[in-house]
Amino acid sequence: MHENLITVKEVSLNNNCPECYGKGGLMLTFKQKVIENQLYKSITSEIEEDIHCNKCNNIIYPERWTDDIERIVEYQQKAFTPMSASTYVKKMSWIIITLAFIIVLAIVLLVVII
Ligand SMILES: [Zn+2]
Repeated sequence: MHENLITVKEVSLNNNCPECYGKGGLMLTFKQKVIENQLYKSITSEIEEDIHCNKCNNIIYPERWTDDIERIVEYQQKAFTPMSASTYVKKMSWIIITLAFIIVLAIVLLVVII
């Protein structure tokens, strides 16, 4: 089983970067956690957001956020619509379910015949 974070939304921010003080390089990214194994794929409701700067290539951690950045992030969080949490069953699962069903059916038939 492995977990994946997939990017759902990217917003460029107008704020100055707390690291390089450049403007227009900050990107706020919303990521949603997806769990996947051989049998199913599940979109969780777990959201992570991070900010990085395209100019200095730094990740801007929450400790470095200014009040302005915090306000913007809060606003963007409210405006953000995550993908709805759901689970998809993969083909492999259906094959196993079908096989199990056939085996059970075969056993039942054998018992009835004998
Ligand atoms: Zn920067």
